[in-house]
Amino acid sequence: MSITISRRSMMLGAALVPLGVGAKAFDNALPLRLGTVPTRIYRSVFNPRENMDGWVFFLMLEASEDGPLIPVSLRIAYHAAGEVVREEVVRGPLLAAMARQDISPARLTGDAPDPPAYWPQALRIHCYLPHAPMIQELGLQLRVADGSGIEHQVEARIPIIDFQQRAALIFPFRGPGIISQAGVLGGGHRNRSGGFAIDALGLDENHGPMRAPGSDRPQDYAGWGRPIIAPGTGVVVRARNDRPDQPRDGVSDPAYFAPEYPGGGDVGNYIVIDHGEGEFSLIAHLRLGSVRVRTGDRVAQAQPIGELGNSGDTSGPHIHYQLQDGPRWEYADGLPVRFANVSNLTRGSYFNAR
Ligand SMILES: [Zn+2]
Repeated sequence: MSITISRRSMMLGAALVPLGVGAKAFDNALPLRLGTVPTRIYRSVFNPRENMDGWVFFLMLEASEDGPLIPVSLRIAYHAAGEVVREEVVRGPLLAAMARQDISPARLTGDAPDPPAYWPQALRIHCYLPHAPMIQELGLQLRVADGSGIEHQVEARIPIIDFQQRAALIFPFRGPGIISQAGVLGGGHRNRSGGFAIDALGLDENHGPMRAPGSDRPQDYAGWGRPIIAPGTGVVVRARNDRPDQPRDGVSDPAYFAPEYPGGGDVGNYIVIDHGEGEFSLIAHLRLGSVRVRTGDRVAQAQPIGELGNSGDTSGPHIHYQLQDGPRWEYADGLPVRFANVSNLTRGSYFNAR
């Protein structure tokens, strides 16, 4: 086999700033540990026709003592069929550009892991390459320097998992539409539970976005008020129905956010359905007053449950859909989703969900 060894790591424009106060040497026996956010790393089948797959995650350096720990080098070995088929070493400004310090490794409940534990560094690992389905595991070696310049090495093996969705799901609305934003590998949703999320607009039968050409009223979008259906059977575990729709097209006005989302990210009116087996659907931005299910209701696949709207942090009528591994999108990990009736979920894809 022929595998090109080249750097594919994605950089973020974050500066490296040591945490903690004052320089300090860590005990060499100090346990350092590597974890990941999300907890499990699922392969994303991003473009099956071109055999392009990948994954994105944060490598979390965990220490049991607070203090600065600065990445020196990161070696990534790609394991396939029992051998290393690709290797890269990142250091210097490239490694610094991968670093972030604002990632929360909270549990699904929102609680922090047991103290004492600190997360002085997170590194964003991004892979997008052909033939990725063969990669089964990443071997990671991170060298970090403490406040006294003493280097420590910590290693981890990270399995790349092919997610096996248990729930049979269909698209949350019928008819023509377009995927306006997809998951993080497509440059879309970047938050922990939204890594595979999609935004979808409803279109008319000619795939036009507006019922009244030239209008800028959200109510004139072809998708406005379209029935939203349960993508699969399950039990409603969370729902909200009291949030106003954003009145102006193209503007996500914070004045319409719920008080608990002052900085944005408001899902507006929403429904979370528990499909069992740790799979939950979140459908967001529904029209004010349109949600017709309540917490505890059992729903059947294709049952009407609400209408497409413009509530929450949104600049035009659409739905946000994501499959996640817990009821709370604030802390759940996102799951790759497959619908039986819409196959291409990349940004800009037109579809007709029948
Ligand atoms: Zn979205």
